Amino acid sequence: MSKVRLSPSRVNDFKNCPQLYKYRAIDQLPEAISIDAERGTLVHSILHDLFDAPAQERTIARAQGLFPGIWKKQCEDKPELMTLISNEKEWSDRVFSLLATYFSLEQPQSFEATFREIHVELDLREDVYLHGYVDRLDVAPSGEVRIVDYKTGKAPKPGWEEKALFQLRIYALVYWRVNGVLPKLLQLIYLGDGQVLKSSPSEQELINAEKSLMQIADEILTAIELDSWKPRPSRLCDWCSFKNICPAFTD
Ligand code: SF4
Repeated sequence: MSKVRLSPSRVNDFKNCPQLYKYRAIDQLPEAISIDAERGTLVHSILHDLFDAPAQERTIARAQGLFPGIWKKQCEDKPELMTLISNEKEWSDRVFSLLATYFSLEQPQSFEATFREIHVELDLREDVYLHGYVDRLDVAPSGEVRIVDYKTGKAPKPGWEEKALFQLRIYALVYWRVNGVLPKLLQLIYLGDGQVLKSSPSEQELINAEKSLMQIADEILTAIELDSWKPRPSRLCDWCSFKNICPAFTD
């Protein structure tokens, strides 16, 4: 029996374009480095390490001070990164600007991050494994749980919020099923434009998310069985690493 591994990213891939899902999840083809994704990784790492410090030391100066070491390590791991950065000053200015936006939205001195980059997982069904990495999960002294995800891009346009929240509902569903506690708040922090998208999930919303996931899992299992992956061209193709081999553009 095939078992499908679902994560918010792979679910998104399949919903956007089954062919893209195949390239990433089934064929596991390598992809070109994305400078936006690397900037996101860098900012996430800085915000992660910031919470290693005692509360009163979680300042913007400390966050900026973490930049050189984390960036150096990132470049050592991927030496080709250096060739993509033509202006180091511009690069660090952009990162510092995203950090400044973070400090305008949250006061990290005022709370403890209970878990950072926590791996959550669940066997949704015998043939469906669901997992993901949560940027931050805060458990208040009252026991209330807040799930937080940082985005270095901009908030979705009006009407697209539900799609954006689906990722956090997946994490909330796993946490709820595993721990028996319904998270109180889901929070997407957009550092690109300083917006925060919040939602208090209901049990029914998480049950609906679970149903959606089962349906997507069934579609993926059918696609695997038939080895049938439909390309779905969209604006995303302009950023797709596989455009030069995609049947939508080569046949
Ligand atoms: S180029 Fe477009 S249609 Fe082809 S795999 Fe990528 S996203 Fe899908």
